[in-house]
Amino acid sequence: MELSDIKGIGPKNIKSLEQKNIETLEDLLAFYPINYTSYTSGETLKDKQNVKIRGKIIKGISEFRPRKNLLISTYFIQRGDQEYKIIAWNQHFLRFSLNVNDEIEIIGKYDQLKNQIVQTKYTIVNQNSLNEEQENSIIPIYSKVNGITNNKLNSFVVEAIKQLDESKYKASLQQLHNPESFKEIENAKQYLKYREFYIYYKKLRLLKDSKNVISKDYVKKIPFQNLEELFLDFKLPFELTKDQKEIIINNLNLLKSEKKMQKLILGDVGSGKTIVSIITAHMLVKSGYQVAVMAPTEVLAKQLFENFNTYLKEYNIELLIGSLKKNQKNQLKDRVLVGTSDIIIGTHALIQDDVVFKNLGLVIIDEQHKFGVEQRNNLINKSLYQEFMYLSATPIPRTLAQSIFNVVDIDFINSKPENRQKVETMLYTKKDRNKMFKHLEQEISLNNQAFIVAPTIEESEILGIENVENVYKNLKIYYKYYNIGLIHGSMKSQDKEIIMEKFKNHDYDILVATTVIEVGVDIPSATIMLVINAERYGLSQLHQLRGRVGRSSKKSYCLLYDLSNNRESTERLKILTEIDDGFELSQKDLNLRGSGDFFGKEQSGITGFKLFDYQYDIEIAQKVIKDVDKNQVLL
Ligand code: ADP
Ligand code: MG
Repeated sequence: MELSDIKGIGPKNIKSLEQKNIETLEDLLAFYPINYTSYTSGETLKDKQNVKIRGKIIKGISEFRPRKNLLISTYFIQRGDQEYKIIAWNQHFLRFSLNVNDEIEIIGKYDQLKNQIVQTKYTIVNQNSLNEEQENSIIPIYSKVNGITNNKLNSFVVEAIKQLDESKYKASLQQLHNPESFKEIENAKQYLKYREFYIYYKKLRLLKDSKNVISKDYVKKIPFQNLEELFLDFKLPFELTKDQKEIIINNLNLLKSEKKMQKLILGDVGSGKTIVSIITAHMLVKSGYQVAVMAPTEVLAKQLFENFNTYLKEYNIELLIGSLKKNQKNQLKDRVLVGTSDIIIGTHALIQDDVVFKNLGLVIIDEQHKFGVEQRNNLINKSLYQEFMYLSATPIPRTLAQSIFNVVDIDFINSKPENRQKVETMLYTKKDRNKMFKHLEQEISLNNQAFIVAPTIEESEILGIENVENVYKNLKIYYKYYNIGLIHGSMKSQDKEIIMEKFKNHDYDILVATTVIEVGVDIPSATIMLVINAERYGLSQLHQLRGRVGRSSKKSYCLLYDLSNNRESTERLKILTEIDDGFELSQKDLNLRGSGDFFGKEQSGITGFKLFDYQYDIEIAQKVIKDVDKNQVLL
């Protein structure tokens, strides 16, 4: 069955869906809501709630233009024995569409004090049509697809689900896309997470059973005996930490041994994993092997490329990313094939069949949790030796890490470089907002750089909060004398790269961003991170964001702008001001997160999981491991 067979999907829709990489029925089934919104009805409306009500227009539209580009329309409706004032922004045609005595259904936000509703949507309804829905309705919100309304998207997915055979999977998908309660959503999510991790873990197990890890084939001739020899022609601007040194020695011995290298390096953000991979690559290239390094985004691939070039100037290092021109790509692939390239760094573009290596000795995968099993294996299978090293900052507890990744050896980097100071984390609320912006300004006036993280446009539409673009525009006015850049997930990757490059070169003092900068980005002169609507994120995610600063000996700050107005939420954020360790935080986060957790994440497109998250779903992982080991199939 194809997308075009789904009821309601026409050729135009197919084009729009393609832009979101939805090309098959499976893709559509995996298109999950990014959030939900709910409307309450009922006799008495609750303050600040989204409401959906019906009423009769009793006083027609008056318009008011407080400034250019802003038109405010006002009218009144009667519902039962209540009257409400309705406000609409910039709806130029409203005046022509609505008449006194029209029966109308309105969705909007209720303000009790002013007894008014700010309308986001309206429909004129037939007087004799159905009564107002009395139950609360929950509406799934999807990531925006140009040309298709949210409602349409929902109906497409629901149609696609109908094609499945009856199963728990099908029922869960139905609940996710057509929920009757938040409890139902939560149950569906739990099951779908379980299923995702189950499938993943099964594959991992198969991999383990099919691999022979001790063989003469894995012995590599490497001309170094110890660290001193390794560093003879290798200059470092800093002293390696104890853990970094240990891992490097361990790598050297492992590569020379009959044991296959299959390892995962787990270290908190900023613990210095990159240099370990650079030095390991050096061992191999010096010995005549090629090394491939894969990263989840072009920005990160580019950054690794620069890092590797800084230390390994004498080698031929290539950067293979999707945005290269076709003939550049072809030439690059030729060099990889004949062996003139030593180190090939790239995104998942590396996986393509026509990337063939002459003598690939080791595969390094940065932020490995962002890739699926197949993606990683595809690359690893390009090497005769099939040796690999994964890097990740996912704060999985040791014991669990060992059982999840029992196919691999795990090395932990526990110590942080000594020159680091703790990132001072401060909490601000609306009332001391000026103080917060002054603080930020003070940092940039000292020639430091700042990140400002704000919600995505999609999120902001749903929640009625500010988004990156507004924040960017407003800051440009507020900080007139500073240079400000903007980066977010829906920009073209080439544009993102240019912006990151400019930030790196200090063409910008401030970079306004969504959580696209959450993983890996390393810009040591950035010393301040401001997160707007910090209450929207999990502690671990905030810790990742905080990890973007404090990457040099300079004092760094993380400012959390808490707009929750909610004591519980503020208490939760306070934990970040006290705890500094990612592993400890993830444990806290786990204990704190109730059922109300949010999707809100910016989809990076190539993450291994849609819903499952190591940082939050450790218990699910534990259950899967137990069930698989007991050979219990619960799907
Ligand atoms: P992550 O583990 O998050 O990937 P990186 O490898 O990007 O961290 O390292 C963070 C920063 O710390 C980089 O700028 C790197 O050059 C620096 N760094 C790495 N190891 C050390 C060390 N032993 N001493 C001082 N700085 C270091
Ligand atoms: Mg990194």
